[in-house]
Amino acid sequence: MIDLRSDTKTQPSPAMRAAIAAAEVGDEQRREDPTVNALEPRVAELLGQEEAVFVPTATMANEIALRTLAPPGGEVIAEENAHLFISELGGPAVHAGLMTRQLPCPNGRFTPDQLRATFRRGDRTHTPPTRIVSIENTHNASGGRVWPLEEVDAIVATAGELDLRTHLDGARVLNAAVASGVPAERIAGQFDTATLCLSKGLGCPLGALIAGSAELMAEARRLKHLFGGAMRQAGIVAAAGVYALDHNVERLAEDHARARRLAEGLHAAGLPIDLEQVETNFVQVDVRPLGLSADEALERLWQQDIGLSKTAHETRLRAVTHLDIGDEDIERAIDAIPRALGALARA
Ligand SMILES: *Cc1c(COP(=O)(O)O)cnc(C)c1O
Repeated sequence: MIDLRSDTKTQPSPAMRAAIAAAEVGDEQRREDPTVNALEPRVAELLGQEEAVFVPTATMANEIALRTLAPPGGEVIAEENAHLFISELGGPAVHAGLMTRQLPCPNGRFTPDQLRATFRRGDRTHTPPTRIVSIENTHNASGGRVWPLEEVDAIVATAGELDLRTHLDGARVLNAAVASGVPAERIAGQFDTATLCLSKGLGCPLGALIAGSAELMAEARRLKHLFGGAMRQAGIVAAAGVYALDHNVERLAEDHARARRLAEGLHAAGLPIDLEQVETNFVQVDVRPLGLSADEALERLWQQDIGLSKTAHETRLRAVTHLDIGDEDIERAIDAIPRALGALARA
């Protein structure tokens, strides 16, 4: 099985498991877990923020961030296919009481003009105020695309003019940093809150962090309890995070190179691949020109022991490279995917 469905599919490596087994642990709720206490400041520094809070998932990190940043009744602006909007079950409404304003745009990136045009100041009688703008980097639904630094800077500057709070959904911000050569702290440090997911390309079994100022993170810690996310001997998991920061960050470049190799191989075999989309560890394949539905294509691939997955776009599938995918897997996928999809197209 060549499992390219997601970079969440990684198994903890033997060395990561050894780090987990050796972890010193304590009561995390009481801030007595030495491994969590080691992980949090490392991630804060990595993201250019004062403090970070360890939580079970990046979804919880996002939701706590929004709740921390604004009172109920306001609006959060983000791209229309942001994870916040299409993959968190309406969490911004449920957990933070926020209205959502969704910006359509190519490649997951909106402009300062779009932000200005959508922004509402709010008034005392009718209009809800826009409170938060959030960007996602890398942007999942568009295929792991990277926000150029000057575009990030421009959104944050515009948010400053409009008096908006800023959130970075940085589940894969280390992919963005490695791909662009811009340090993660330079990207993430300018936001009020930024998140990081440990269970994607970093290869941990679970875990995520939310980072921001000490003041905001004090509130985030309170909300973590409120959401039921305060844990006990959580160092068992945090140890995987510490291990991943030591060993699995720079190597994300290998995932990116393999995605590039896969995209070029599939393109050369005649599959509809947009090579420009491939900036990090995602390759999207549009199966519509092949006369296939997404489900038909997935089934056909599955029979060949290849796992791809759906995207926000009806006929676009994705292949995601990660720690458990090696060069041989890529070569086999380049051979098997066109055969699986092409055979059905001819049938
Ligand atoms: C996966 C993902 C999340 C949520 O991560 P979980 O740890 O699975 O909850 C948030 N944002 C983005 C962009 C993601 O890709």
